[in-house]
Parts: sequence; structure tokens; C-alpha cells
Amino acid sequence: MNARTQPAMIPFIDLAAQRRRLAPAVDEAVARVLNHCQFAMGPEVRAFEAALAAFTGAKNVVSCASGTDALVLPLRARGIGPGDAVICPSFTFCATAEVAVLVGATPIFVDVDETTFNIKPGDIAAAVETAKSLGLKPKAVIPVDLFGLPADHAAIAGAAEAAGLFVLDDAAQSLGATYHNNRLGTFGHATATSFFPAKPLGCYGDGGAVMTDDDALADVMRSIRIHGHGSDKYDNVRIGLTSRLDTMQAAVLIEKLKIFPDEIVARDKIAVRYAEGLRDVCTVPVVPAGYTSVWAQYTIRVSGGRRDALADTLRAEGIPTAIYYPIPLHRQQAYKQFPVGKAGVAVSDRLAGEVIALPMHAYLEADVQDRIIEATRRALKK
Ligand SMILES: *Cc1c(COP(=O)(O)O)cnc(C)c1O
Repeated sequence: MNARTQPAMIPFIDLAAQRRRLAPAVDEAVARVLNHCQFAMGPEVRAFEAALAAFTGAKNVVSCASGTDALVLPLRARGIGPGDAVICPSFTFCATAEVAVLVGATPIFVDVDETTFNIKPGDIAAAVETAKSLGLKPKAVIPVDLFGLPADHAAIAGAAEAAGLFVLDDAAQSLGATYHNNRLGTFGHATATSFFPAKPLGCYGDGGAVMTDDDALADVMRSIRIHGHGSDKYDNVRIGLTSRLDTMQAAVLIEKLKIFPDEIVARDKIAVRYAEGLRDVCTVPVVPAGYTSVWAQYTIRVSGGRRDALADTLRAEGIPTAIYYPIPLHRQQAYKQFPVGKAGVAVSDRLAGEVIALPMHAYLEADVQDRIIEATRRALKK
């Protein structure tokens, strides 16, 4: 294709298409907040927490300012800090390990499964041993439900129970996904999610929430969320944060949550079409029996060093791609000082060199997707 006829880039995630669908409802919801002026902890915050509890089946929802804070709140509430080890996968977004360091604990990296990209439950025990050999107290594990797909929560619960670990599920990318017919938000001791705009359920800025069935834990997190308040805001019973979800964002999320189930169905149809169109030219993602994915990313694997050439070819045809994640956390400058569990992280290293994500969102039209599939097939058959 010559430069003159080069098509414009299609969106990787089309937030504008969703905006067009929701404009009247969202504009009215935001106008209501502008009129009542309760910008912090207004009625929409409670209403959204209740709607998310109903959607996920979690008993308590504590909304907060970001997905990162949603991971910090439970760790802080549990008193996890210096001298403690927090086990997490190396192949994830940095925030998963960042929160361990933010509370003063030490992250210990473990490997992920080759087909699901999620933590290997069988490697948790080895990481517990590694922590102990370093004089650290293993306190928690943060499994991540990467790219929209739940981790193996039954196996994780078994490994965590054997070692006395608190399980904090990082569902920042996977709200709405199910594991044996239950939505995420109901596994582990607490689940964190993010409403960053690019996540499956995104707001128009930053936001997050913690879900838990533990009432006492939820109460402590509600206190930490607003400066460690006790019976009122001038009664300070612990050190806290400023981590409220803005009323405006809650108002946006209430409207977005209404169409979210429909969007999940649309995303799944797109994933099925990708798999049909690409499974003979690359490794397409697999959803194990008993799981559903919300497809935060559609990540294929391209071996033999052809990944970057594929990205270049697609870019020239107006198709954006992204690499999540080019460098696993145990190799990142900010994290390479932290220990790796005894079982190693060989798969994380391999995946970092092979993964590439294709455009994925609920509004990807069939003809545009066909273009992506055709271009990918052409590039990989070369
Ligand atoms: C996005 C993300 C987070 C952090 O969420 P923010 O809202 O951006 O703070 C944490 N963990 C994972 C796996 C994520 O993808």
C-alpha cells in the first residue's frame, strides 16, 4: 500500500463510539450532579456502590480514587507492611507490585501460565519458601485476572490457605468476568478493580473499587479511604488517605454499568471472530471451560521474532497494536531488586517477547475487524 492511500488509524479502543451511544444519559447524569453540588461522596457514590454489589454479587463495595488505591486499601486495612512479603505475578501491569512496595512490604514475583497468562497456583508455595528464606513473613498473594480472564481462583485459594495468605484479587482488567458461574468480586478475601477509561468498565477519569464479603474489612477500608475517620471526620482513629470516587465519576459509571452486560456480549462475539480468523496463523487466547473473559485485551502470541514486523505491517495499514507487557516486572528498573520465587519466571520472560494485542472494544464493526484479520493473516503468512 503506498503512502498516499494509507488509511487513517482505526481506534485501538473506541471510547467515542460508546460516548455517542450514552451521550444523552451520561449528560443528564452529570447535569444532576452539577445541580446538586455534592461533588464529594454525593448520593451517586452510594448508588453506584449498591449497583456494583448487585452486579458482582459482592456483599460490600468500597469505591475509591483509582484501581491502585483499590489494591492499597485492603493491604493497609490488613496491616501489611515492612518485613512482610506479598506474592504476585511478574507478567502484569506495574500497579500489582507497586502497591506492595507502597505499603512497605516486599513483592515476590512468580510465573504465569503459558495459555492463560495468569499466576501459576502451583508456584505460590515455592514463593512462600523464598520469602521465609529471606526472613520475610509471607502475608498475601495478589493474583491478577489478566486481559479480562479470571485466574484459577480455586487452586489459588488452596495454595493461599495452606500458607495462611490473604488473597487480594487484582481484577482491574476483568470486572464482569466469571469463574464457574460467579462474577469476579466474590473470590479471595478482597477484589480490587479499576475504572480507568481504557478498562472494560471505565469512567471519564480515574476511579476504582474494592469488593469484599468481609464487613469488618470493608469498614476499615471506608475509614482509610477518608483520612482514617472514626465516628465522624474529626475523629481520627488511624492513618488514612484521600481516596474518594468523585460523585461525577459515580454518575457516569451508573449509566455505563447499565449497558455493560450488553457490551460484554459484544466483546465476546468479537473475540470469537478473531479466534476463527486467526487460529491457524498464530496462538490465539483460550478461555478454559468454566471461565468467561471480558476481553480487556485480545492478545495473540507470535513466535520466532516476527512480532515487531507484524506491528509495523499493521501500523502501515492503519491498524494499531499494543504490547502488554514488553518487560516483565522482575526485569523493570524499579522492581528488579525484588526477589523472584524459587520456581522462576521463565514463561513471563518468553511471553514478553511474543505477545501483541489487537484492537478490541464493544463497538468494533465486523468489516473493520475483517480488515484487521486479513492484514494480520497476510503479515504472518509472509
Ligand atoms: C490498570 C491496572 C491497575 C491500576 O488501576 P489504576 O486505576 O490505573 O490505578 C492495577 N492492576 C492492573 C492489572 C491494571 O491493569
